[in-house]
Amino acid sequence: MKAITTYQNKKVLVLGLAKSGVNAARLLHRLGALVTVNDKQDFEDNKDAQALLADGIKVITGSHPVELLDEDFELMVKNPGIPYSNPMVQRALALHIPVITEPELAYQVSDAKWIGVTGSNGKTTTTTLIGLMLNEGATTGHAYDAGNIGIPVSGVAQKATAADTIVAELSSFQLAGAVTLHPHIAVLTNIYAAHLDYHGDRAHYVAAKMRITQNQTAADYFVMNWDLPEMHDLAKQSQATIVPFSRHNAPGARATFDGTDLCFDGQPIMAAAALQIPGEHNIENALAAIAAAKLAGVTDDAIRAVLSRFTGVRHRIQYVETVADRKVYNDSKATNVEAASVAIEAFDQPIVLLAGGLDRHLPMDELLPLIKQHVRAMITFGETAPLLEAVAATAGVPATRTQDVQTAVPLAFDASQPGDVILLSPAAASWDQYPNFETRGDLFITAVDQYAKEHPACD
Ligand code: ADP
Repeated sequence: MKAITTYQNKKVLVLGLAKSGVNAARLLHRLGALVTVNDKQDFEDNKDAQALLADGIKVITGSHPVELLDEDFELMVKNPGIPYSNPMVQRALALHIPVITEPELAYQVSDAKWIGVTGSNGKTTTTTLIGLMLNEGATTGHAYDAGNIGIPVSGVAQKATAADTIVAELSSFQLAGAVTLHPHIAVLTNIYAAHLDYHGDRAHYVAAKMRITQNQTAADYFVMNWDLPEMHDLAKQSQATIVPFSRHNAPGARATFDGTDLCFDGQPIMAAAALQIPGEHNIENALAAIAAAKLAGVTDDAIRAVLSRFTGVRHRIQYVETVADRKVYNDSKATNVEAASVAIEAFDQPIVLLAGGLDRHLPMDELLPLIKQHVRAMITFGETAPLLEAVAATAGVPATRTQDVQTAVPLAFDASQPGDVILLSPAAASWDQYPNFETRGDLFITAVDQYAKEHPACD
């Protein structure tokens, strides 16, 4: 870690705790800053605040008092989830106090090389692939996945050395507070309409994503999705060497899919058919990862080894196992209709779809043609069960209601035929029945394991 003196005896306010706030507060404390943390949750229920106080860090909990900014803070580290419209943030900006996010702080102390990955979709998959590729057969240094993937980058930055690489998944919320952050290789997987409630409008959302390249020079690389026309214009804003990828073999692209092989600079690396992760969108993720790995000096053999065994990030169209000649996939992360649509489209085989969850009163119509075309039967549960059943009825697909994801599993096997795919892709958040999508997915996998045990293959 770089022993920077920038924050010695400087008053810093960490706004909002959670994992990233706790890590930022501890790092700043270690750097000699006079840290105050402010978190909305009451002290009695706030384990993080209690732990920080025990370490000698000042904590103010229960509300966000704007008067706090009357103290002469020199920096605010804002939790990425807190919008810029928050009165505390507004006040800090009015007082010209720099407002940064935790990955920026991490970058300032980091000795490691950085690869940054952003985009509306595919960030976690691409980040994971790049990390695995860099580590495959590496003789020196280690690649650490960090950031929005769920591991605060400021923790990792303290242990990663100059021989190591940090592969940072960076959300638009995190990038909005990036100032000096400067990845040697940046990846922009795609840009779709998302988080417009936070950023205000699309231009702000795109501008936040483009901060990933703002400090890059011609000696750096910016890997971009050449199949999206908007990227061609955005590329002009970057000083970096643009490395386009295209699953349609677009002119000028360096990582390409020629219909059979995934290639880099015209050289085939592997057949797309050997990918374990299904769907066209995963060809894009694989191409983005290939580009980043090749630029980082990874061998074709190492890239091939990773891509031919990687079965997906947990809960994201994750291949679970084949039971009774049905391939089972867990896509519990599909908490909205768009994500479920991507999953349904990813398979050629007939699907038995397990879906349902928190009702956000959003339209389901987008699912209709996909269900009609790909789905053999549906098993529904949770608040949105009736809505999904209405779509199924219009599509002429049978639907069976059950209590939860666990009881849905045997019903799905009953409704399926050999050769089918059984897919949990709920098209809704989990909070009506589960604490989070991970728990929902884990219970699904346990129920599938249980079913497999009770129905051993007779060979
Ligand atoms: P993120 O980290 O950006 O949320 P993930 O890799 O976790 O992305 O994938 C989440 C979901 O987004 C997947 O289950 C899939 O439905 C969809 N998805 C993944 N990659 C892409 C892509 N390249 N294009 C469009 N949708 C994608």
